[in-house]
Amino acid sequence: MFTVFEAGLLKLKCHIIDALPQPGGQLSELYPKKPIFDIPGYPSVGAQELVDNLMEQIKQFQPGFTLNERAETIEKFDDGTFIVTTDKGTQHHAKAIAIAGGLGSFEPRKPTLEDLAFYEDKGVEYFVRNPELFRDKKIVIAGGGDSALDWSIFLADVAQEVTLVHRRNEFRGALDSVEKVQELKKLGKINLITPAEVIGLKGTEHLEALVVEINGATMTVETDYFIPLFGLTPKLGPIANWGLDIEKNAIKVNNALDYQTNIEGIYAIGDINTYPGKLKLILCGFHEATLMCQSVYNKLNPGKKYVLKYTTVAGVDGFDGTRKEAERAVVKAIE
Ligand SMILES: Cc1cc2nc3c(=O)[nH]c(=O)nc-3n(C[C@H](O)[C@H](O)[C@H](O)COP(=O)(O)OP(=O)(O)OC[C@H]3O[C@@H](n4cnc5c(N)ncnc54)[C@H](O)[C@@H]3O)c2cc1C
Repeated sequence: MFTVFEAGLLKLKCHIIDALPQPGGQLSELYPKKPIFDIPGYPSVGAQELVDNLMEQIKQFQPGFTLNERAETIEKFDDGTFIVTTDKGTQHHAKAIAIAGGLGSFEPRKPTLEDLAFYEDKGVEYFVRNPELFRDKKIVIAGGGDSALDWSIFLADVAQEVTLVHRRNEFRGALDSVEKVQELKKLGKINLITPAEVIGLKGTEHLEALVVEINGATMTVETDYFIPLFGLTPKLGPIANWGLDIEKNAIKVNNALDYQTNIEGIYAIGDINTYPGKLKLILCGFHEATLMCQSVYNKLNPGKKYVLKYTTVAGVDGFDGTRKEAERAVVKAIE
């Protein structure tokens, strides 16, 4: 996200593609409520707060977003430009590419159930992308972490019936969420089935029911949707097939210069890259993004000398017509 800002200062426009439904990478997906203590200038900042601030900071540069889609292939043309194609077939034409793929794309951990693939998109969902899909429907959520608790609470007001299945009696989520689920159970708004496990799926065209094992016995739970929320695992995924130099699941880059990969015009920044002394920290990603943008600018503007200007001096001109004016210093002669 910070690349969008640094590129914007150089009048370069960015488009972000992310496999997740929201921007923010690990911060939004894995630890949105945790405070971070090592962002320069912030003694403490919530992970989601930092992402929200970055969104505010880059707004003026009007980035495009293709979310919920995984970058699948990169094709390079003779003129040095690229076409990035996603798993949904969306294509983007770009003059340079920054791979900020972190640990790879997050894939849902799937339960081992017979015919699971058949029911995907026919009643089995791994993300709650659009809560309206579940309006007035019967849903079963499985899992014991924050996502399972939070979505059970949220969907209790949307769905006709919410059942939460977890293999233990204890939940790993935030205490206030656990208490809220208990309260909704008492109000009859959530059915809680623990310690239990979903062991089978039933239905002809679409999911119709689940087989749930509880204390050695089995029961059938009628449902329209099954949402297993067992966490996400990062997978390097398609990035491994792009002809890049990969070392231990990370992309090798030239850190002496500009974080470029072995393919000219493709850069790798943040957790996804590797070089001697690499540290997987947010502030290192910010730095790498900044240097990378300078390199892209020089490549796209051959012969044009770029003079680094401080934002305190030059201000910031957004692509949306806004201007953040640098305050003029008072010039006063000393007598
Ligand atoms: C619990 C936890 C606590 C942490 N605490 C700190 C801390 O206190 N301080 C600190 O500096 N760092 C911390 N980190 C590390 C920090 O989160 C990472 O360094 C940072 O998120 C890296 O940012 P990134 O943009 O490189 O990658 P990520 O945040 O991993 O984002 C990568 C994004 O790329 C997407 N992606 C990958 N492949 C594809 C593809 N093919 N197509 C489309 N999208 C794709 C993923 O979906 C993901 O959203 C912590 C990490 C964890 C897990």
